[in-house]
Amino acid sequence: MRILLVEDDRMIGESVRTSLRQDGYAVDWARDGRLAESALSTEHFDLVLLDLGLPGKDGIEVLRGIRQRKIGTPVIVITARDEIDDRIRGLDAGADDYVVKPFDLDELAARIRSTLRRSSGNAEPEIEILGVRINPATREVIRDGRPAALSAKEYAIVEALMQRPGAILSRAQLEERMYGWGEEIESNAIEVYIHGVRRKLGTDFIQNVRGVGYFIPRPDEKQ
Ligand code: CA
Repeated sequence: MRILLVEDDRMIGESVRTSLRQDGYAVDWARDGRLAESALSTEHFDLVLLDLGLPGKDGIEVLRGIRQRKIGTPVIVITARDEIDDRIRGLDAGADDYVVKPFDLDELAARIRSTLRRSSGNAEPEIEILGVRINPATREVIRDGRPAALSAKEYAIVEALMQRPGAILSRAQLEERMYGWGEEIESNAIEVYIHGVRRKLGTDFIQNVRGVGYFIPRPDEKQ
């Protein structure tokens, strides 16, 4: 899961980024509106945290701009304490939710999870395929009734693939969901993590299409 954090306040930005990374998200941090807009036009993100008062381009303008261009990435706006107008403007401009400064990091994490759940079309918080069940809210993984201990990056791969069973994700698409800007990607990292997942969840759980990418079969496709 990859999140674009758009925030010009250095302290807030650093604490949010640190907390989200600890939760296993890949986080990119844009400090002004124009950079955010160009990143959203060219790269894939699963969610945007958007401060409204920004240099370069106002957060509301960024939001209106991406919605006009049919970019449907879920957006949580970050508004100042008493700015009820801002919250309304944000929701009217196409935001999915909002948090009010100063916000609690646990509350932010819960809003991110519920927004991601809604956007992936899963009313049920848990996803189960081929005897493996994951809970995106808690990141618990259960295989055949028993908990499996996945690292944050292994979990990111499993979640990305389980959200779209049958769809092939390329190595680059998986890397995009796992790493933020400037994070070093070790060569063969994806293969190493996939190997770890297969060891823990079964060798057939993630399948490979040579030269194309990886997928988890739809339950009805199992041979
Ligand atoms: Ca600001």
